[in-house]
This record gives sequence, structure tokens and C-alpha cells, in this order.
Amino acid sequence: MTTSFSELQQLETLAERFQKYSKIARVEIPARVKHGKLDFPLYTFSIGSQKPEAPVFGVSGGVHGLERIGSHLAIAFLNNFLQRLEWDETFQWQLERMRFSFIPLVNPVGMYLTRRSNGNHVDIMRNSPIVAEHSSWMIGGQRISPHIPWYMGKEPGKMEVESQTLVDFFKREVFDSSASVLFDFHSGFGYVDQLWFPWAKSKTPFPHLAEVYRLKRLMDLVMPNHIYIFEPQAKNYTTHGDLWDHLYIEHQKKIQGTPQAKNVLMPITLEMGSWIWIKKNPWQFFSLLGPFNPIKPHRHRRTMRRHLPMLDFFTRVIISHGSWTDLSNTEREEAHAAAIKLWYQNRLPFKRPAEITE
Ligand SMILES: [Zn+2]
Repeated sequence: MTTSFSELQQLETLAERFQKYSKIARVEIPARVKHGKLDFPLYTFSIGSQKPEAPVFGVSGGVHGLERIGSHLAIAFLNNFLQRLEWDETFQWQLERMRFSFIPLVNPVGMYLTRRSNGNHVDIMRNSPIVAEHSSWMIGGQRISPHIPWYMGKEPGKMEVESQTLVDFFKREVFDSSASVLFDFHSGFGYVDQLWFPWAKSKTPFPHLAEVYRLKRLMDLVMPNHIYIFEPQAKNYTTHGDLWDHLYIEHQKKIQGTPQAKNVLMPITLEMGSWIWIKKNPWQFFSLLGPFNPIKPHRHRRTMRRHLPMLDFFTRVIISHGSWTDLSNTEREEAHAAAIKLWYQNRLPFKRPAEITE
């Protein structure tokens, strides 16, 4: 028996409306998640060039069922595409050169049940085979009990349907791509909006540090007043079982020693600073969804529009990725050294931008 809720209904409507554009948009249900007598579809959207090597802008949302805002943002983005397919020639041009790969609601059972984990109490973002070099206590993942948050699952290495579907989808969409940036939308941590790059498993620098530094520098130049803290995930906490660490490592294994060895896969987590919503409206802390989502309608609308300039910037740096992926040895060394100085040598507490007060 299939059941539905608002976010799933919106995806069903989107899937129907994209049918008109089947030449350019592939909408699929690669798997379904069962929970008791209920079952839920996992929707994927692949829009634009289907050439394997095309650059990819990927998005996943709703990995954690309480963080509905992540799926809302992914759905808003897909709606924006649908409108622009009607008339926007620049967008058509863009789609000939790249593809958008979306899995907007990774954990429908969690969202249906209003809980972070999936139907088996597993935290999807602690469920890959990765064993961390450093892991934060409890929040970094645990196998003690499914009734405590951050449960990794019973058997090491066994992925849940949701995790496996996400990994398989992005393997198909990005493993032959010349460059990809994969955004994962989350909320529930911090006062400000943050962009986190790997590793989650370790406090050491990851191999594409020079490239991510160039990306950050480009963003600072193009959007000098942007609101994001851009830093390694491990500056905040480290975890076992991160799906992005897993995907990144699998990609490296596939391309090493091949002509595609220069291809770049860059996972970025957008962690929306939800504590500011609570600060503005303290009562929402006492509701189940309050700590993770903007509750007041005007604040929800603001969140929907707030990230579009940044995401639009990333769609551009994906098409023109040579500016941060094709680096000479000297450029790479310089960028790497600057990144180490910026992110790994500073033992002082991180300098935060002025708190966002809007
Ligand atoms: Zn989350």
C-alpha cells in the first residue's frame, strides 16, 4: 500500500509534469522502501545532457526525516527548472552542456514517521562501510542500540535500501563525469549556513584540497557578501559511515590510473543554520520539527530564496569547471598550501562571520 504526504505528493506532481520533457528529463523510481504494509517510492531526476562525461550538479535532500526543509529546497529547485524549460534559452544552452541529478527525498519513511532515521532506525548518513579514523562520540555513529540516535545499522558494511539507492544513483550519474559537485541539504546544526567538504571520517586533508580551495576563492570573489562558512566537515564533527566519503573513495578507485584520473567529484553538504530560526521563535524548540525547520511562513519563504544565488553560482562553476579543476602543478601546490594554512593550521577557535540577524 502506498501512502503519501505533502513532500511526496509534490514529487509525484513534479514527475508527472516532467513527462512533457522526457527528451531532456529522466524521472525514475529505482527503488521503493517498505515499512510494514506501507511502501514509498524513491524518486530520481536526471535532467540535461546524458553524455556520461557531462559535468554534473547533484542534489540530495531528506536524508534525515526531520529535516524537511532540505527536500523543500530540492523541490523548489526542480520547480524552478520546470518553469524555465518553457522559455529560458540560456537554461536550454546549459542543459546541453551539463546535467542535474537529483534525489530529493532520500528517506521517505523517516519523513512520514517524523523521525531522523529510516524505518529500521538507521541513520542513513552513518550507514556506509566507512570506518572513521577519528569519530566524535555518539554523534559519529554507534551500534549500541537502534533506539539511540546515529545508529549505523546492525551489520557493518550492509547498506539500507535508501543508502544503496543514493550511492547507485550517483555512481551512474557522476562516475564518468568530467567534474561534479554533489550537494546534500541538511539542517539542525549551528547559527549560520555552512558548506562542508570531506572528510567526515578524518581530520586530515582530503586529496582534492587544492580544488576545493579554488572553488571557495572563486565564490568569495564572485559573491563577496555571501553568508556561508566554507570548511571541512571534520571541523565540526567526524563520523563513521558517511555516504559522501564512501562515494568519493569509490570514485577515486575507479578512475586512478585511467585517462579519467583528472576527473573531480566534489561532495558538499549544505548545513542550514537552523538555530537562528529557534532564536527568533523560541517556542518552536518544543515541537518535533522546530529545531530543524523554519516554522513561520515568512522565514520558510526566506530560506527558499536564500540559497538560490549560491546554487546558481555552482551550476556555473560546474560548466566552466576548468577554472578550478585544470590546475598546473604550481597552481595546485599554491592552492594546497593556502588551504592548509586556512583550514588545518589554525588552532584557535574558528573565526565566524558576524551572526546573521535577518
Ligand atoms: Zn541531517
